[in-house]
Amino acid sequence: MKCLPIITLDGPAGVGKSTLAKRLATILGIPYLDTGAMFRTIALRLGPGAEALPEDELRARCKAFRFKLQGGGEHSVLLCNGVPVGPEIRTEEVGQMASKSAAVPQVRSWLIDLQRDLAVTQNVIMDGRDIGTCVLPQATVKIYLTASADVRAKRRYDEYRAKGMDCDYEEILNTCLLY
Ligand code: C5P
Repeated sequence: MKCLPIITLDGPAGVGKSTLAKRLATILGIPYLDTGAMFRTIALRLGPGAEALPEDELRARCKAFRFKLQGGGEHSVLLCNGVPVGPEIRTEEVGQMASKSAAVPQVRSWLIDLQRDLAVTQNVIMDGRDIGTCVLPQATVKIYLTASADVRAKRRYDEYRAKGMDCDYEEILNTCLLY
């Protein structure tokens, strides 16, 4: 196993991990991986109620997804089965589906293995709520971001509104209080 420098950014929902990861990746000229995007992509592709599927079926369906990271800095692109992951995953609804499937041990451990593989095969900045603490405890540089649930909810609400998306502040706040 190669030991490339790994930079991790941990912190709760809406704290700005991806914004900082993108900026750091741009400065350093390496790709960044928003691990939440992997959970969101799987949730969207599996569809609602996936968390209730029988274990074997869920495992088999997960194995059909291949992730790849392309480009660098702000041009980093996550590909799922060769298709770039786009803004379709950035809705509150997909976020909630992702939370449900992320809690299923088969989905979680499979994605964590993929994240570990990606981290040791290329220089990368990874962000996610447990990346430096759990997934890659051997990371070279670990950054932890934090902010109150109110501040994070407001940030995420503003982000959604700026994109013209319909959203509910209380619902977002509830998610921020949980994660
Ligand atoms: O960070 P983001 O809101 O995009 O993540 C979507 C969901 O994926 C989270 O609610 C969380 O349940 C799950 N997730 C996770 N571990 C990560 C990143 C995201 O469990 N490292």
